[in-house]
Amino acid sequence: MVLPRARLWISIVVGLVVLGAVIVGLSPVDEPATAPHPVLLIGLDGMEWEVALPLLREGRLPALAGLMARGTGGELASMRPTVSPTIWTTIATGRSPDEHGIRGFTHREPNEDGTARLYTSFDRKVPAFWNILTRFGRRSHVIGWWNTFPAEPIEGVMVAQVNTLDPGEATFTKELWKGSLFEDLEGQVYPPALQAELLAEIPDADAELPDLAARILRGVGEVGPLEQRLWDNCLWSFRADLTYHRIARRLLTMREPFDVLAIYLGGSDVAGHRFWRYLQPDLYANRPEETTVARFGEVIPDYYAYLDELIGELLEAAPDDCNVLVVSDHGMKPANVDAPYTAKRAMRMLVSGAHKGAPAGLFVAAGPDIRRVGFARPVADLTREDLPSLGSVADITPTLLALLDLPVGRDMIGTVMEDLLRPSFLEEHPIRRVDSHTPPNWFEQRQSVAAKPHLSEERLEQLRSLGYIE
Ligand SMILES: [Zn+2]
Repeated sequence: MVLPRARLWISIVVGLVVLGAVIVGLSPVDEPATAPHPVLLIGLDGMEWEVALPLLREGRLPALAGLMARGTGGELASMRPTVSPTIWTTIATGRSPDEHGIRGFTHREPNEDGTARLYTSFDRKVPAFWNILTRFGRRSHVIGWWNTFPAEPIEGVMVAQVNTLDPGEATFTKELWKGSLFEDLEGQVYPPALQAELLAEIPDADAELPDLAARILRGVGEVGPLEQRLWDNCLWSFRADLTYHRIARRLLTMREPFDVLAIYLGGSDVAGHRFWRYLQPDLYANRPEETTVARFGEVIPDYYAYLDELIGELLEAAPDDCNVLVVSDHGMKPANVDAPYTAKRAMRMLVSGAHKGAPAGLFVAAGPDIRRVGFARPVADLTREDLPSLGSVADITPTLLALLDLPVGRDMIGTVMEDLLRPSFLEEHPIRRVDSHTPPNWFEQRQSVAAKPHLSEERLEQLRSLGYIE
């Protein structure tokens, strides 16, 4: 990364060049003097400032602290209903749930036999940023984003998030296993020619998983049946994060050029749902025993620290001139504080952390085009009151488009987070707008592609067994 002082000089030099161009009568407005910088968009599901702030104080989130010190950080307003697939689709489209059509974990219309049907990428009614970039000939790599299966043909590389309903409890829509990648399922990677190479990361991720588990569990010995269930219910998500991260790193080391690299990591939400009661035990009527608090109270903080390490590795592998946006879709807070917690209850009854009512998420940004805002005190001393409100989840796509010098749709519900951007950038790349990025009949045309009977019987059977079709 370039040192702040060097960047200051670069800004001054660029500013002088632009000024010179204006003076000699060239128009810097139509043709930007410099190509926009690539964007690294890191999605962290359910990351909560109340957990992150103490860790920042302890120096356990060095990557986030570094970004905040050279850029900014604060709260990001979430939305209702506060469910991840809906919000992550708003994050990727800038459109409301009514407009984008992803209304939860499973389709509102179940299968004819009453079982839940998972949303596919064809159910999204409006283009996401990767579709918009493709139309402008710009490249995005999208890894693990919600509701991207089957992988869409884009300019760039798409690695879909494949979900499945727990076969044991398929009618409970909460029992969704997100983020699994399957070694033998077609349609997870676009272009298909890359699928074998990228999914070769799966066995390596599997081999790494026991080490990660041991590290988060800090060598905990014998585990009771309740904690064992909670823990087993986190592992699939940790595995997905490991896999997505390895794939992102692989793409970065392959030096595949990109305008946006977007990656979604979900373990912070999954661990938060299951281990909040050990993080803040005094808030629960059924307080866990002191020994289990000592053992599991660090699961959530340890996972945050692990995610920060992954961010650090991505920053290291990414081009130096990236603008970096770290986004969580919502925060989290204690839930079910009066509930009994016993191993025999259904998993959805054992959720002790949740995000009902749209608690604000975390947003951190830094890069050559992001203003260095500064806080009232050093990052390591920040309190909740020091954190500014920086915008909302709907503002991410408009801001991303502005950073890439692409027009923003007037039909988007969010706005460009202009306060975030350097004035020199805005002068050089004034915000442009179009009425809409959604061509007429966009959804219908995709539906007709989806309905084409080009799937083999074997593939149809796979999709049926996963819950995507009847
Ligand atoms: Zn959640």
